[in-house]
Amino acid sequence: MPLVRYRKVVILGYRSVGKTSLAHQFVEGEFLEGYDPTVENTYSKIVTLGKDEFHLHLVDTAGQDEYSILPYSFIIGVHGYVLVYSVTSQHSFQVIESLYQKLHEGHGKTRLPVVLVGNKADLSPAREVQAVEGKKLAESWGATFMESSARENQLTQGIFTKVIQEIARVENSYSQE
Ligand code: GDP
Repeated sequence: MPLVRYRKVVILGYRSVGKTSLAHQFVEGEFLEGYDPTVENTYSKIVTLGKDEFHLHLVDTAGQDEYSILPYSFIIGVHGYVLVYSVTSQHSFQVIESLYQKLHEGHGKTRLPVVLVGNKADLSPAREVQAVEGKKLAESWGATFMESSARENQLTQGIFTKVIQEIARVENSYSQE
C-alpha cells in the first residue's frame, strides 16, 4: 500500500482575487460565479502524483491586506503556500509582497514552498500586472510562478500539483545540506 503523506497548504491573498474559486475549482471541478466573501474554509483531497499519494488539506482564508497580522495557525504546521493576486489589480500584487515578507519572517527566514499565482488571466483587457512582474517576484523568492484562471480546471489543477512538488523540492534541498 502506498504511503499517504499529509500536506497542509494555506491560500493567501487580498480579497476577491479568486482564492475560493481556485479551491472550489480544484476540489469540486466547477467555477463559482458570484462573490462570496469567505470567512475561512477548509478542503481535503487525495492527490496522486506518480506513485505517491498525498492527503492535501487546503485552508482557504478570508483575505488579507498589508496591515494583516497573520495568525500562528497560518505558520505552524503549514507545509506550503499558494499566494494569489489578481492580474487585474496592482494593489493585490503589492499585498502579496508584504504577505510573503510576513511569512518569511514567521518561518525564521527559511526557504518557503510557495506557488505565486496571478489569477483572472482570462480578463486580459483589464490587466494591471504583467506576467513578467509576477515571474520576477517569484524568482526573487526562489518560488514557482503561474498565471491562472479559476474558470479553467486544467490550470487550477496545475497550481495544487505544483505546490506539492514545491514542498518536496524544498524538503530535498534541506536534506542535501
Ligand atoms: P476570494 O475572495 O479571493 O476568495 O475570491 P472569490 O473566489 O470569491 O472570487 C471573487 C470574484 O472573482 C467572484 O465573482 C469570482 O467569480 C471571480 N473570479 C475568481 N476567479 C476568477 C477568474 O480566474 N476569472 C474570472 N473572470 N473571474 C474570477
